[in-house]
Amino acid sequence: MREGREDVSPTTEDPVELANRKPDPYRHILVALDFTPHSSHALALAPARALELVRLHDSKLSLIHAVENSFYPDLGYDPLMIDPGEFAELDQQIHDQAVLRMEQLAKSLDYADVQHDVLWGTPKSAVLSYAEAQKVDLIVVGSHGRHGIAKLLGSTAVAIVHSARCDVFVVRLAE
Ligand code: AMP
Repeated sequence: MREGREDVSPTTEDPVELANRKPDPYRHILVALDFTPHSSHALALAPARALELVRLHDSKLSLIHAVENSFYPDLGYDPLMIDPGEFAELDQQIHDQAVLRMEQLAKSLDYADVQHDVLWGTPKSAVLSYAEAQKVDLIVVGSHGRHGIAKLLGSTAVAIVHSARCDVFVVRLAE
């Protein structure tokens, strides 16, 4: 499998020649999935769009979801009487559920070259570091999900568009 796109720096200034030049195909497309109820559109739409693209470009497809550790500040007293270990257990259950959902989704896609992962961390850092490490050349995200506000780009989508070092395809999610 070829990894990463070649340098496409133009060797000509001629706009007609530049416009007619065929860009390299995408080799590795990553879909960032938010498994919250609000994102059922993303779950259906983002992989569907990505599937079109991987078929067109004959590229590898990765599906990832990030699970954040619950934040439980050490206040020196415990107003909620909750054992911090319970948070860790809950986080692990959320992670395990996400792994199952991811496996189901990956199996349901009619495409052979699919890998999937559930990562610990913020969606932004998980998506960006996975993309770098795996030489992803296109990231597909939903316009908004759990953190998003209706009709605006969600914070994850904005962060990825701002910081990704590859192309980003934002699937507009209807209300
Ligand atoms: P949000 O910023 O929560 O509105 O989400 C916008 C988009 O970012 C979603 O449609 C997903 O593509 C992606 N995203 C959000 N949360 C996650 C997550 N936990 N793991 C992977 N991708 C995510």
